[in-house]
Formats: sequence, C-alpha cells, structure tokens
Amino acid sequence: MKLNQFYIDGAWTAPHGADEHEIINPANGKTLGTLRLGNNEDVDKAVAAAKTAFKSFQHTTVDDRLELLNRVLDVFKSRYDDFVLAITQEMGAPITLSRDAQAYCGIDHLEATIRALENFSVSEAKDGYVLRHEPIGVCGLITPWNWPINQIACKVAPAIAAGCTMVLKPSEYAALSAQLFAEVMHEAGTPAGVFNMVFGDGINVGSPLACHPGVDMVSFTGSTAAGVAVAQGAAPTIKRVSQELGGKSPILLADDVDLKTVVPQCVWLCMENTGQSCNAGTRLIVPAHMHDEVVRVACETAGRYAVGDPMEEDTDIGPLANIRQFEKVKSLLAQAEKEGLSPSQGGVAGINPNTSGYFVPPTIFAGLKNDQLIAREEVFGPVLAIIPYETPEEAIEIANDTPYGLSAYLYAADEKRAAAWASEVRAGMVHVNGGHLVSDAPFGGYKQSGNGREWGAHGLHEFIEVKAIMAKSEEEN
Ligand code: NAD
Repeated sequence: MKLNQFYIDGAWTAPHGADEHEIINPANGKTLGTLRLGNNEDVDKAVAAAKTAFKSFQHTTVDDRLELLNRVLDVFKSRYDDFVLAITQEMGAPITLSRDAQAYCGIDHLEATIRALENFSVSEAKDGYVLRHEPIGVCGLITPWNWPINQIACKVAPAIAAGCTMVLKPSEYAALSAQLFAEVMHEAGTPAGVFNMVFGDGINVGSPLACHPGVDMVSFTGSTAAGVAVAQGAAPTIKRVSQELGGKSPILLADDVDLKTVVPQCVWLCMENTGQSCNAGTRLIVPAHMHDEVVRVACETAGRYAVGDPMEEDTDIGPLANIRQFEKVKSLLAQAEKEGLSPSQGGVAGINPNTSGYFVPPTIFAGLKNDQLIAREEVFGPVLAIIPYETPEEAIEIANDTPYGLSAYLYAADEKRAAAWASEVRAGMVHVNGGHLVSDAPFGGYKQSGNGREWGAHGLHEFIEVKAIMAKSEEEN
C-alpha cells in the first residue's frame, strides 16, 4: 500500500511532511503500517493541482461526469472485498457490518449521486433570467474515521457530479480505506488534478486546507470542536463551509409500544458500529411507569451481544476504533463513576489482556436525568442512557434539551403521537417506528450538529454556485 505517498495531480508523489503515524489494528494492537503525514507544502501542491484541473473540469458536461462516476462505481465494486477488509482492520468494525453497511455506503452514495445528476439541470430558463448551476470550485474534503468510506464517498461523488475539483484529507485513523479509494479514482481514469488526496492530521493538513485562499469550499465531517476550528479558519477567505458534526440523538418511546419488539431495536440504534456513529440513538427516553421493564429488556439484549474479534462472522461489537477514542470513552466512564452513576450493564473499559484490543462492553445507564454527564456528552462508544419521562410533552422537552440536533428515533403505535413528535423534535432526520436511512434523502443536522445537508440531490447542491443571467430582451432594444 502507498501509505508513504500522496495522490496529487494524477500520480502518487513523495510527501514534504516527515512526521509519521502508526496504523494500529484496534482489535489486537498490532501495527498495520506507517503513514506519512503531510504539511502545508503538501496542501499547497494539491490545491495548485486542483486549481489547474478546475479550469477544464468545470466545463465538462453532465454526461462526461456521469460517465466518470459510473466508471468509479464499477471499479469500486471490483475492489469491494478490499474495502471490507481494510475498514475492519483499520477501525475495528465487525466484518459483517463492514460488508453489509460500511463498504456498501460507497456504492450507495455513488448510485444516489448518479441518480441526482441524471435529474440535474445546469441551466433553467426563468421569468426574465436564466438560472445556471455551476461548480463552486476547488473543495477541501475533511473526513473522520468512524464510517470512513461513507463520508469519503458522500463528499467526493457530489463534488465530481457538480464539476468541482478537490483535495481530500481523510482521517489519519482510517488511511487504508482512503488509500484504496484513491486507487479506485485513479483506475477509473479521473482526469489528473480533479481528485487529490493528502494524508495528515488536523493541525498540519486539515487546518491549512480549511484556511487556504485557493480553496472555495470546505466540506467537513467530524467533531463539533474541530468543526468550529475549520469554520474559524475558513472565515477570513469567506469560503463556504459545510459541517456534519456530533450528535446525542434521542429515541422516544410512547407507552403503547410492545417493549419486547421495540427495545432490542433501540439498543442496537446505540450499539451498532460499537456506538461510534454520529447519528446513534444514545438517549432512550421512556415512560416512567415502563422504565424498569425497558431496562430489563435492554440489559438482556446488550448482554446477548458477542463482543470480540471483528474478523469473526458472529461478532456484534468490535473494539473501539483507536486508542484516542478508547481513552476518551474510558475517561467518561470514570467521570460518571465519580459523579455517583453506576451502570446497569457493562461499564468496565479495559484493554483485553488476551488480545490487546481496545474493548468496551455494551454499557447501559438507567434512571438518568437529562442533565447528567452520560445523558449530555457525546460518548461515541457503546453507552446508552435511559431517561424516564412523565408526559409526552416532557418527553419532547427532554429530546430537544441538547445542543445537538442530528437524528431522532420515534416509536409509537398511535400515528397521531408519532406525527406530533416528528414535527416537534428539532433534528435533521427523524425515523418513525424503525424507518431506515434513505441515501436519496438529505443527511445533516440542526443546531450544533452542523450546517448543510449531504447525500443525494441536496448533497450535490452543496457543491453548486447559482448564477442569474439577465439579458435585455429584444423588445427592450
Ligand atoms: P475529529 O474532529 O477529531 O476529526 C475529523 C477530521 O477532522 C479528521 O480528518 C481530523 O484529522 C480533522 N481535524 C481535526 N482537527 C482539525 C482542525 N483543527 N482543522 C481541520 N481538520 C481537523 O473527529 P473524529 O474523532 O475523526 O470523528 C468523530 C466525530 O465525528 C464525532 O464527534 C462524530 O459525531 C462526528 N461525526 C459526525 C458525522 C455527521 O455526519 N454528523 C459523521 C461521522 C462522525
């Protein structure tokens, strides 16, 4: 693998930056490779290549871009198994999750973007003017490690569709899948300079990219703190900033649901991907009189999960993705203990002495108030907070009492109750009675969960500038 090179101007090139980052398999602590980290000279070089390529790529037709995206899709499919393995090795997602969801997101977003582009019009005649949709320019794409191909694909595909050129800075904790993605872009015949990739950390590559005067837009996914830094860095050059940030999403249970059916689904909404999803349902808000039964079913469910080697087909919960995330979750659990909170299930984070992996068992805190640590902080690990409510009005107040607003999950047999909650909850995405994500629907959050929307047609329009062309009519002359 080319972990000591960056993909710039259509070729693998030697980095300027000399720092290195060990890529560790979180399931066993073994080194998978050594990544070279870039610096601002690498960013300058990649931005210059993207700027030059934009001169011609902006004028490609929708058909040209559809052809390119279809080639990328074909090559991506031909390398599918490589992606599945890379994701499990680099960030510990159970192999079944990597195969069925993590890697599949690449296909899903490429296909959704192709559908969106097929229905896209560059130019529309309006009353008295012509409206043109043009590419915004050179884009900086900064992605995290938790759904690595999901986030790369849902930025790169629409940027290409719009006619933009780009510099991708993937997470230094998910470089294997990113490197494969760059190989796919190369093999698909992406014109030189349209797609560039620089490995690096946030400070030495992410920040210079966000601040760069040659970059017209930054699309960032990651923590709220880093999202703020990116927006501040981007402000002096007035570039567009799209942010997909953190979450503390509520799951609201009405008192008319069948707990045995619904509670296991709710627990999985939190625990899937070892709790490391921005849209995880991490606050289970339940009728007070049903609380104890919910806790019983939830603990029973969590206790049944197979925690262990993510390469095993029957593993449900793998390790935390990296040592930094593991230490963060461990420290939050220790803080919770200091505040007198004790989990009903799980709670002990420890390096597995047999495997050296970063494992945290599925953990459940019950009877919480919404102002307590585990109910407020984005843990980003397999930790669920169960919070009782007295009335449906109080339930929605608790759901909305968070700085975040990414997703909300509602379970109610009464359709009127579900509809009322769906309109009252302040979140970008609402899932009713187990409704799944749809790759054509906009993905993004209210409040401090971000700005803008990704996926499908909304995601494509993030990379578009609109131009109004007003010409004097013949009658006016
Ligand atoms: P992170 O913020 O540490 O890193 C994300 C990316 O930003 C990485 O590529 C990192 O190198 C870079 N970065 C860090 N500091 C930067 C800076 N100052 N300037 C520019 N770039 C910088 O996040 P993470 O730990 O990789 O991912 C976990 C976080 O991402 C969680 O908070 C999660 O909720 C969020 N997330 C959100 C979504 C969403 O769509 N809303 C999706 C996935 C993850």
